[in-house]
Amino acid sequence: MSIYLRDALHVDWRTLKFTAGHIRVESGEQGGMRFVGEIPAATDLPAGDRVLDCRGKLVTRSFACGHHHAYSALALGMPPPPQAPADFHQKLEYIWWKLDRALDPELVLLSALATALECARNGVTFVIDHHSSPGAVEGSLDAIGGAFEEVGIGVLPCLELSDRDGSAISDKGLAETGNRLAAGKPCLVGLHASFTVGDELLSEAVLLARKYLSGIHVHAAEDAIDQETTFSLYGCRVIERLKEAGVLEFPRSILVHGLHLDREERAILKGSPVWLAENMESNLNNRVGVFSGEGLSSRIMLGTDGMHSDMLKSAQAAYFNGINPERAGLADIYSRLRRVHDYLQENGFAGDGENNLVVLDYPSPTPVTEENFLAHFFYGLGSRHVDSVIARGRLIVENRRITTVDEEEVLALTRAGAEKLWRRLAQ
Ligand SMILES: [Zn+2]
Repeated sequence: MSIYLRDALHVDWRTLKFTAGHIRVESGEQGGMRFVGEIPAATDLPAGDRVLDCRGKLVTRSFACGHHHAYSALALGMPPPPQAPADFHQKLEYIWWKLDRALDPELVLLSALATALECARNGVTFVIDHHSSPGAVEGSLDAIGGAFEEVGIGVLPCLELSDRDGSAISDKGLAETGNRLAAGKPCLVGLHASFTVGDELLSEAVLLARKYLSGIHVHAAEDAIDQETTFSLYGCRVIERLKEAGVLEFPRSILVHGLHLDREERAILKGSPVWLAENMESNLNNRVGVFSGEGLSSRIMLGTDGMHSDMLKSAQAAYFNGINPERAGLADIYSRLRRVHDYLQENGFAGDGENNLVVLDYPSPTPVTEENFLAHFFYGLGSRHVDSVIARGRLIVENRRITTVDEEEVLALTRAGAEKLWRRLAQ
């Protein structure tokens, strides 16, 4: 099946080159997009083919999120904990570790559906997710995969393993991860962070990643506590410990945050094949510091860390908060936003090809050109301009309406799920 985009102004996501014309988008994981001279007449269109009028609209590659937590979706608007957290560790203990323990299989599914809906609306067609539900481990990765698939979004999930709930839970998590990898489905081996993962679990996770040529997805140096606890328990810094354990040998590994790194750790990361996911808004929200890419390689991508599913907003936050500390420029942050596509392609993950597109209805008051596109991207564009979304050649949002699921029905379910979760947390 094909979708034709009539009279589009296409912006190449790598070169920012503009091309005006008609585009044919082919469906499927291997499908692509190409410019065509003409569009078949309505009477000649094969069944299922569609034509979208894109006159006056911009068409470019849709977005992908380098680090998300779909499991936190139902926390939006949740009542605060009885005791206000004083620091990052208390935020984990009073909010997130309570929430993830309260998730049952139904809430895992609803959280993933809620996230996938938001992704679709924001033109995000692929998500690298870091999941945690210690009370509902078995089947959780496939449930997340299925929920994202239902909406039409690609996902590379993992389970956030740690020792905080004991070895029975982490063993279940290793088995769940191993099962998904053994089935040949996209998956990483997830760990929470160095300060919550003992040597045995760390080494088991690395063995699993090695066995299936996967990678480790782990928070690293998000807060000073990760460095302090790692040093007091293991006598070394976070990156040294991860390197010693083998985490840095995988090109599929993703280290998340990387705020509290010294010069030597940055050099170690630069010399390794691993990727880093920057999550500016989460860092500001948690008051743990501000990211800087100084001394790191260009293997930096952007994530939302579960705050929301809007990558345009994430890129803008990364830019405006990166201007001072690292003198970040528009092109630097745009490149970080787009590096996730390289991560997925270089590592052989399907579903994020050229047939993933977003149609932007952007009635700018000033001219939009190849030369000033990045200025429009950071100062003018917003998710409100996302008009239609094509994921793997399938039209999943048309004229701002999701086509794959009944949005109202899903939202009624997610709201009921959120109430159940909040009641459970208040007990
Ligand atoms: Zn995270």
